[in-house]
This record gives sequence, structure tokens and C-alpha cells, in this order.
Amino acid sequence: MNIDKHLSDRAQRVRGSLGKQTSVPIPGLINLGSGTPDFPPPPHVFDAMRKAIDEGKAQYTAWTGIPELRAAIAAKLKRENGIDADPDSDILVTSGAQEALMITLMTLLNDGDHALTPSPHYDEYTRDANILGGTLIPVATTPESGFTINPADLEAAITPRTKAIVAVSPNNPTGTVLSEATMIEIGRIAVEHDLIVVADEIYEYYVFDGAKHVSMASLPGMRERTITINSFSKSVAMTGLRLGYVAAPAEFIEAMLPFHHAMMICAPVVSQYGGVAALTQPRDWFEPVLFEYDRRRHLWMSTLNEIGLGYTRPQGAYYVFVDIRPTGLTSAEFVKKIREEARLVFQPGTIGGGAGEGFIRAALTKASPEFEEGLERFKAFIKGLL
Ligand code: PLP
Repeated sequence: MNIDKHLSDRAQRVRGSLGKQTSVPIPGLINLGSGTPDFPPPPHVFDAMRKAIDEGKAQYTAWTGIPELRAAIAAKLKRENGIDADPDSDILVTSGAQEALMITLMTLLNDGDHALTPSPHYDEYTRDANILGGTLIPVATTPESGFTINPADLEAAITPRTKAIVAVSPNNPTGTVLSEATMIEIGRIAVEHDLIVVADEIYEYYVFDGAKHVSMASLPGMRERTITINSFSKSVAMTGLRLGYVAAPAEFIEAMLPFHHAMMICAPVVSQYGGVAALTQPRDWFEPVLFEYDRRRHLWMSTLNEIGLGYTRPQGAYYVFVDIRPTGLTSAEFVKKIREEARLVFQPGTIGGGAGEGFIRAALTKASPEFEEGLERFKAFIKGLL
């Protein structure tokens, strides 16, 4: 049967874009580029989920999420992010940030519309826009600027089809944290050109070297035109429990609801109770986690310094964007070769757009002793190449 004629244009546009996933761990292979945190969620999250199961919580919840969770999210946004959100109208609990960003783009983009984003960027935004018949326009940043967007470049990329700016900070894959001054400039551009800002803040707790996470919606005049996306995947290591949220003016939430309902009806109920515990209990358990990630970050940096490879000093998220241009290989060639010869897994920098060519995404998510073993193999591999 010729399947092609049965597939929608939408399906054709993203066909094959994910590649093949190996679901069984391959012995000897060390993944030094994974986006999944290696620590478990804190015990109070599991306790709350166990309690929810014991109480027989298995039914649909309110489409927008259980009231306790929406109240906890609103309190967190006020306390930590300086964002005012009404728990009854301005918050939608989702199955992870992934759903949140898809329903956000579904709400904003028509066929042929554009969303701009500083690039290298999180690749899912490209696929989502493609599915919708729109385009994610990557606005290139450079290693020299630490992959920080030059607001003038963003402004120059605006066309009559531009509907939104996607601002991810801290950024995946570059680890760049946008300064308050840059955020203010992006906000000014959004106001002047009447655009919506999609602020993906899922790495907010991963900041180093005194870098400060700033929430776009907290800036003067930005609340009404900002859709804030967040999740429990990175902040509480609940990646498989699929829990996230959108905070936005009520009209946007109302517009998103049919998309959320069509795909999910509601976020997983047991996870929602875990989410309440995550937001209402202290976060002191995270301090040693961040300390350990910082230790790994320093180990990565000293390894790279030792072998003479460049990188952009990562200020946030848990990635190190490594400059492999001296090897003469492209990102894709490098990733293939190091997997075959040193049994190490990385993401090519190009996964987040062409501006990442010549770079690979390394991560801080591998525990000792595999982490150190991986670094040793990396060193030996590079020494053999240069
Ligand atoms: N946004 C960014 C920038 C990400 O890096 C990821 C996952 O790695 C997501 C969203 C998706 O997160 P979630 O697991 O909450 O769906």
C-alpha cells in the first residue's frame, strides 16, 4: 500500500523528523548529552502521589487542573516570578511544557504565520510550527556573544506574518541566560510590533555564576502579551510524569482550552497531586542538586580548557555547548564518529538550527562515575583527532 497518499500534508511535513529512538540501553554507551535530569523527584512528591493513589484518584480532573494545583502555581508565580495570575482564569495545567508550547502555537499561528526565536533553539518549536503550517524563524546568535540575541537582529526579522517571539531562558541547547536588559528590549520590540512573547522558563532554577532568571511577564507592560510556559520536568525531575502549565491572560487560556481538551482532556491526575507537593514544600532539597550540577559544569569546563576546545560558559540550564570546529568535522559527523569510536552520545548543535553548526550539546545530567569516565573518553577521542 502506498501510505503517502493517506498521510495529511501536516504529517508529511514532519515525517521522519524525530529519527529512530533506541529504547534499550546499549552496554558501554555513555550518554553525555541527555536532557533528562539524573536525580529523582523529592520524597514529598512521591508521598503525595502515593496518597492520591491510595485515595483512589484516577478520574478526570477539571480541564484546567485541580484547584489546589492552580492555586499553588499562582502562589509560586507571585512569590518567585513576580507574575500575577488568577488561579481560576489565568492558569492551565498541561501534560508537560511540550503540550503547553504546542497549544500555545496552535492558539497563535495561522497557516503561513511566523514565530521568531533566538537560535540555536529547542528543536520542538520548529516541528510544532511546521505541523501547524507556520514557520519558526530562527534568528541566529553567535558564539562571540555567548549566543545572546542581539535585539536589533530580532527586530530586523519581523515581517507582516510575524505573530510571536519565543524566548527560552535559560536556553536549551546553549545554556544562555537572557539578561534583564535584553528581556526589556525584547519586550519593547513585542510592544512596538504588537507581538506576543512566549516565555519558556522550564530551566529557571538552573542558573550559575550568579546569573539571575527574569520572567518576561513580570516586566512592566508585558503581562498582557506574555504566555509563560513552565513544567515540573526539570524543576522537580518529573519528566515522565508529564506535568506542566501555561500562565497567560484569561482570554488566551480560554482560547487554548479546546486544544488542550482535544488532546488531553486534563493532565494526569496523580501527577497533579505530586505537583501540589512540589510547589508547596520548601525547595531546599534542590541545593545539593544544583551544587552537584555546578561541580559537573566546572569539570566539563576544565576538561575543555585542558584539551583546548572552546565553549560558551554556560550560565544556565544544564548544557555545555562545545565548539568542535577545530576538529574539522561537522556537528553531525562528530556526533556519529564519537558514538562509534568512543561510545559517547551527544546531540549535534544543529538540532537547534543552523547557527549551532560546529557545536555539540553536552549535558550535566550524568552521575559519577560514568560522568568522569565519559570525560576521560572524550579527552582521549579529541587528543586522537587534533
Ligand atoms: N521546553 C524546553 C526548552 C525543553 O528543553 C523541553 C525539554 O527538554 C521542553 C520544553 C519540554 O518539557 P516537558 O518535559 O515539560 O514537556
